[in-house]
Amino acid sequence: MSKSLQAIRGMNDILPDQTPVWRYVEGKVARLLDNYGYKQIRMPIVEFTELFKRSIGEVTDIVEKEMYTFEDRNGDSLTLRPEGTAACVRAVLEHGITGGGQVQKLWYIGPMFRHERPQKGRYRQFHQIGVEVFNLDGPDIDAELIVLTWRLWGELGIRDAVKLELNSLGTSEARARYRAALVEYLSSRLSELDEDSQRRLKSNPLRVLDTKNADTQAVLVDAPKLVDYLDEESRVHFEGLKARLDAAGIPYVINPKLVRGLDYYSKTVFEWVTDKLGAQGTVCAGGRYDGLVEQMGGKPTTGVGFAMGIERLILLVETLEQIPQELARQVDVYLCAFGEAAELAALALSERVRDQLPNLRLQINAGAGSFKSQFKKADKSGALYALILGDDELAQQVVGVKPLRGQGEQQTIAWDALAEHLATCVVQG
Ligand code: ATP
Ligand code: MG
Repeated sequence: MSKSLQAIRGMNDILPDQTPVWRYVEGKVARLLDNYGYKQIRMPIVEFTELFKRSIGEVTDIVEKEMYTFEDRNGDSLTLRPEGTAACVRAVLEHGITGGGQVQKLWYIGPMFRHERPQKGRYRQFHQIGVEVFNLDGPDIDAELIVLTWRLWGELGIRDAVKLELNSLGTSEARARYRAALVEYLSSRLSELDEDSQRRLKSNPLRVLDTKNADTQAVLVDAPKLVDYLDEESRVHFEGLKARLDAAGIPYVINPKLVRGLDYYSKTVFEWVTDKLGAQGTVCAGGRYDGLVEQMGGKPTTGVGFAMGIERLILLVETLEQIPQELARQVDVYLCAFGEAAELAALALSERVRDQLPNLRLQINAGAGSFKSQFKKADKSGALYALILGDDELAQQVVGVKPLRGQGEQQTIAWDALAEHLATCVVQG
C-alpha cells in the first residue's frame, strides 16, 4: 500500500481482537468512577492553540515540541489536544459550573495527540482517562483520587506491579524561593549539566530535576531539596495526605525529584510507576493545580486531578497476564439453519430468544452454506453451543442444541422452551 494510504506513524488502529480488552479496562474505570460519584464530561478534540500555551506553559516539552498545531480555514491557530486538563478547565469556566464554589468531580476519556518518538507505550495518538475535581482544597480529596486508583489497580490485577511516588511542590511563593536556591546551585555547576538542562535552567529550572541525563542527575544529588522550602500550609496539606494514605493502607515513596512535566501544578503531585514496561513506566500521573483556573481568567478555584494512559494500562494488564479468560469468548450460541424455510423460522426464533434473554450473545449464521461449513463457522465463533434448525426440526418446531466444547450430548429442545433452556446452560459474562 502506498505510504499516503497508511495510518500515520504512532497512530494506531485498535483491531477487533484488541477491542475486548479495551472495553474491559474502560468499563472497569467507568463503573468505578460512577461508584465514587464522578460525572463524565466530554470536550472537543481540537481547541485554540492559545489555550494550551496559557495552561500547560510555553516552556514545556508539550508546547515546545509535541503539539499538532495547524491553521484552519479561518486562519485560526488550532491544536489537537495533547492532554485533557486545559480543555476541561476551559469548559467548566465557559459554562460557569464551578462558579460560587460549586464542587465538580469530573472525568473524561478520549484520544490525545503528541508528536513524540513512537515506541512501546509511547504513541502520537494515545488515550487517556482523566479526572478533575474543582473547589475542594483539602488533602481528603487528593487522597480519594489516589485511593480510587489503588482500587482500580486491584480490580485489574496490577496492584503488585505499580508503585506510588509522591511529592509536594508547595505554593507558588514557596516554589519561587526554592527556584532561586536551585538556580544559584545549578549555576555554580553549569558546565556539568547537559545542554537541555542548561537551557531549562534559564527557562524553567524546576524541569532540570526531571532530567534523564545521568551526569546532570549526579549533580542533582547535592542540590537543595524542595521539601526544605515548603510553606507551612503545603506542609500541613502534605501531612494530611500522607496520614490518609497510611490509614487506607496504601504504600508510597516520597520522590523529591518528582516535579511533573506541566507548569500548572502546586502542592500535591503523584505518579503511579511500574518497572514492567521499560522506559514508559508511568501509568498514571496527576496533582493539584490550585492556581490554574485563575491563570486562565477565572475566579480563584482550586483543582486537583490525574490522567492515566490507557495503552500503558492495557500493556501492563497483558504483561501480567491479567486478562480475564471470559474475554476470549464473544459468542454464546451460534444458530445454523438449512434451507429457506428453516432460515425464516430461525430468524423469528432468534428474535424471540433475544426478547427473553437480552444478554445472550447469539450469532445467527449469515450466508447459508452446507451443514459442514456452517458447523465450522459455529465452532470458529467460539460459541458454547450450536443450534441446529433443518427441515426435520422445522416440522417438529424444535432445535438441536449441540455442545461445542465437550459438555455432553446433543439435545432436542422445543422452540417454546429454548430461552429457558439456554438460560440454564449458558453462563453469561
Ligand atoms: P512521560 O513522562 O511518559 O512522557 P508525561 O508526563 O508526558 O509522561 P502526562 O502528560 O502526565 O504524561 O500524561 C498522563 C499519562 O498519559 C502518562 O502517565 C502516560 O500513562 C500517558 N501518556 C503520556 N504521553 C503518552 C504517549 N505519548 N503515549 C502513550 N501514553 C502516554
Ligand atoms: Mg511526555
